[in-house]
Amino acid sequence: MGAKELDQVWANMAQAAKRFDGAEREAPKLIAVSKTYGPEDIVPILEAGQRDFGENRVQEAQSKWPDLRAQYPDLVLHLIGPLQTNKTKDAVELFDVIHSLDREKLARHLKKEMEAQGKNIPLFIQVNIGEEEQKSGIAPDQCAEFVRYCQDDLGLDIQGLMAIPPAGEPPAPFFARLVELGKSVGLEKFSMGMSADYETAIEMGASYVRVGSAIFGARDYN
Ligand SMILES: *Cc1c(COP(=O)(O)O)cnc(C)c1O
Repeated sequence: MGAKELDQVWANMAQAAKRFDGAEREAPKLIAVSKTYGPEDIVPILEAGQRDFGENRVQEAQSKWPDLRAQYPDLVLHLIGPLQTNKTKDAVELFDVIHSLDREKLARHLKKEMEAQGKNIPLFIQVNIGEEEQKSGIAPDQCAEFVRYCQDDLGLDIQGLMAIPPAGEPPAPFFARLVELGKSVGLEKFSMGMSADYETAIEMGASYVRVGSAIFGARDYN
């Protein structure tokens, strides 16, 4: 697994983008999700020209990305997993985009830490689009109020919405719901779609797809 699979994902993305029938938009971007994989697997993907990468654990990312960034200064690192408030400082130091803003307390911690570090990192608000008990994310009916709080009260740079649809159900209705919800609050960017459904997500308007196993291979854990 590696560069050959990456080429295939890029090609599939380009085809899916042609099937999107909405208004003109920027080409959807690929986030190569490298969690559980080490530099020996990541370097070939960087060499092939991929620059956006995703990690879901702050500590794991700290152990591998500072060295890689020194070699590839133009890479863009995305945090796609849950963020505990006690890791906010490390996350703001390391990541360029955070996709998992899901509660007021975290928003306040991010604001404070970004001020301290003189940054304003682009953020995606994670929505629990399937309204699942165990899943993180803001409830859809609280999204508008949360967006307003983040933007108006805290001055955060909210780029758009992120979601992971429920497993074992067709994802398209959930992607559609996320897009509708985003547009209703004035947000136009969507972080949605993984290895199993990134083409569907792009057809429905994804700005970022987060693809791991289709590039790197199956993982031992999620
Ligand atoms: C692991 C992960 C992905 C990538 O999953 P694959 O099925 O391997 O493509 C995408 N998004 C999030 C939030 C993840 O944790």
